[in-house]
Amino acid sequence: MSKDRLDVQMVKERVDMVSVISRYVSLAKTGTSHKGRCPFHSDDTPSLVVNAQKGLWHCFGCGEGGDLFSFLMKIERISFLEALERLAAEAGVSLRRRDDSAKEPLREIIAEAAAYFADNLTNDPGGEKARKYLLQRGYKQEVWKQFCLGYAFPGWDRLKKKFGKRYKVETLVNLGLLVKREDRCYDRFRDRIIFPIHDLSGRPIAFGGRAFEGEPKYLNSSQNPLFDKGGQLYGLLWARKEISSCRTAILVEGYTDVISASIAGIENVVGSMGTALTQRQADLLARFADEVVIAYDRDAAGGAASLRGMRILRNSGLNVRVAELPIGEDPDSFVSREGAEGMLAVIGESTPFHHFFVRSLELRYDLSTVAGKEGALEESRAFY
Ligand SMILES: [Zn+2]
Repeated sequence: MSKDRLDVQMVKERVDMVSVISRYVSLAKTGTSHKGRCPFHSDDTPSLVVNAQKGLWHCFGCGEGGDLFSFLMKIERISFLEALERLAAEAGVSLRRRDDSAKEPLREIIAEAAAYFADNLTNDPGGEKARKYLLQRGYKQEVWKQFCLGYAFPGWDRLKKKFGKRYKVETLVNLGLLVKREDRCYDRFRDRIIFPIHDLSGRPIAFGGRAFEGEPKYLNSSQNPLFDKGGQLYGLLWARKEISSCRTAILVEGYTDVISASIAGIENVVGSMGTALTQRQADLLARFADEVVIAYDRDAAGGAASLRGMRILRNSGLNVRVAELPIGEDPDSFVSREGAEGMLAVIGESTPFHHFFVRSLELRYDLSTVAGKEGALEESRAFY
């Protein structure tokens, strides 16, 4: 049995499940179990059943359920590890030292790669093109430094040659720095501006790369042992303080949307790194914010992936509004031209989610026909 599983078992044995859940829900004993109103949906009948003997809870209203850990994770919006730590502290169980040491060398390689990309941009003669490009866009040296920007040289094996001397190719592939295709193995990022992605402790864990021209415009590291792809938000490290204090986060798609907003002085902006938001990203955001204003470009905002993302945000208990940028603009281009004032005006006039949703139905279904009405009804039923 793994160390984690042993810890979990010991905590479960020692913690009184009913008394922990009772802090959030008033529970009444019925037979061998306890019942209460479910905190995860608006529940007027007690639909939540806690079976302490089995160590399980279940809601017959919304279908949620699990063990004590999942309850705590869900209600406190914390990770499994945080839930384990809290409950262990309460139960007086000292957790076996978690073996994070295997990841340390990986962190060092990513940090070294970040420093290498940054050096290419700042000091290398070969970085001239990238320097010019960033300066033209109004990204000065302070900005490169603040966001730890870098540059990946053109060519297939610049990083491979440099890092391959000291590190195993498999490790570099595993970290997403190299790509392996059958018998070929080459640099993932080539001739791209590099945006390191940091965890909340401030260490780089992955990279995003933006092409000067051509497709794909954006390229991210693959999932790696340090980078939980669907669980990160770009820029949260820098934005979390402002988000916690104003309780509102502005959600954009790309790296440059975050940075351009920050240059204009708007600091509560994070990037979803794509339009398809995940539950883990939403839960992460909900730890800091009560409200999210989505500021995608218009085509992306109306798309199915984006609507699903909005639903996920709502399910995380966040109030959702949609900022409507002029057609053809993204937050980057808009804030760079109109400044903070223009951007904040659009944010201030953002549309509450349900209005936005109804309008998007009107656009996609012909509500003057029975079939159109049925389609719209069907979709909204699936949604709410
Ligand atoms: Zn429920």
